[in-house]
Amino acid sequence: MLIRMAQDPYSRWSFEAAREPARFGAGEVDGVPGTEHAVDADGTLCGIPEQRIVRYRHLFVAHGRHACPECRRQVAAAPSQASAQERLHDRVVAAAPGSTRDDLLSALRTGAKVVRWIDGPSAGLAQYYVKLDELRDGAEAVAQALGAAESVGLAQVDDGPWRFTVVLPHDGGRPVVARGPQRP
Ligand SMILES: [Zn+2]
Repeated sequence: MLIRMAQDPYSRWSFEAAREPARFGAGEVDGVPGTEHAVDADGTLCGIPEQRIVRYRHLFVAHGRHACPECRRQVAAAPSQASAQERLHDRVVAAAPGSTRDDLLSALRTGAKVVRWIDGPSAGLAQYYVKLDELRDGAEAVAQALGAAESVGLAQVDDGPWRFTVVLPHDGGRPVVARGPQRP
């Protein structure tokens, strides 16, 4: 991807170009050291169950000398993963229609930086990451969404002079969007 971008200085940022190869944990079979397998929640991609796996602390390296050939094949065939921008875009589409939402969607489509996307206790997130009195549009809705649940997702996106703040309810409810000035 980097090469393509270097060859075409006019190529635009896009969800498609920003997708990343799937990444997996790594491990070996207990008692069978030396062969590195790709591991997900159920076990290795080549079919060895989780209970028999000793997990490594690093991610699976498909081109490594000790990589299991079947795991390597499966990793190569795995679907690529969407960028943070694409994943957040897919959530924000469900927010109430309005210019703030639409401006955020268009910022995400052109690669605006997702500077923060975390889950945690609403009160703590509100205290440390959201300056309610600086939000220009949607401050009230954001305050309500933060007050409505014990824990929420919080995403922030920088675009030009603006920082968008998105509250993502854990119950799958509508995300709430506001924006305010970006601070260094
Ligand atoms: Zn394997």
